[in-house]
Amino acid sequence: MPLRGVITFRAVTREGGVFWLSDEPMLLPELRKAVLEANLELVRKGLVLYTFGNASGISRQKSLVVIKPSGVPYERLRPADLVVTDLNGKIVEGKLRPSSDLPTHLVLYKSFPTVDGISHTHSEYATAWAQARRSIPCLGTTHADYFHGPVPVTKEMTDAEIASKYEENTGHAIVRAFEGVDPSAIPAVLVANHGAFAWGADPATSAHNAVILESVARMAYLTLSINQEARAIGRFLHDQHYLRKHGKAAYYGQPKEKK
Ligand code: 13P
Repeated sequence: MPLRGVITFRAVTREGGVFWLSDEPMLLPELRKAVLEANLELVRKGLVLYTFGNASGISRQKSLVVIKPSGVPYERLRPADLVVTDLNGKIVEGKLRPSSDLPTHLVLYKSFPTVDGISHTHSEYATAWAQARRSIPCLGTTHADYFHGPVPVTKEMTDAEIASKYEENTGHAIVRAFEGVDPSAIPAVLVANHGAFAWGADPATSAHNAVILESVARMAYLTLSINQEARAIGRFLHDQHYLRKHGKAAYYGQPKEKK
């Protein structure tokens, strides 16, 4: 059991929310909370078993990333356990080893400037598609509401890419799968034979998109089990659903409050 450098206390608000108090100032306390919450959301929604998966967030202003430590059970995670690194992966704050997938997250943050939160899972249905090395076609409006096209799958990695800088090369494989594709419009990918990465404008959105991806992957699997001839929905219906939620003239939900 690693020694903790920082003692943290769990406190519960009158509204039932949980927050953590620490006896030492830590870098990026808000981002730490957001990243911890995103990691816990993956557990709550059944997307990770044991220590699988990881979520991170970035402070673009400070060029620092906060990520889950590697192989630590989620129920033991405290904000102080999260690891803060620079964009080269150098630990800036934290006593534990960062997630083994940190280099993948770093490539994505550097390549996709609109992405400020990333969640990685081995959730079952998304991973089944990744293992089958098939992109997920858009078979219905649930998919269209979140992804403006099929969810791509990366190419199989070469032995040379695996032998050296495997996790970093995983990031490059993802970036290659997005050549000519806007990562804001399709906020997830399947990594061939591995699992899923989802992202968003913050860690919470990345976890949300990972949950939706798993649901969409499951529905697509079921749809094709019922009817192998099922086809992707038409462009017009796809656009209608995606754009009413995310387009310039989006009208889904309530107007955003002016700050
Ligand atoms: P870490 O515990 O190192 O984040 O690894 C989890 C995982 O899912 C690796 O792909």
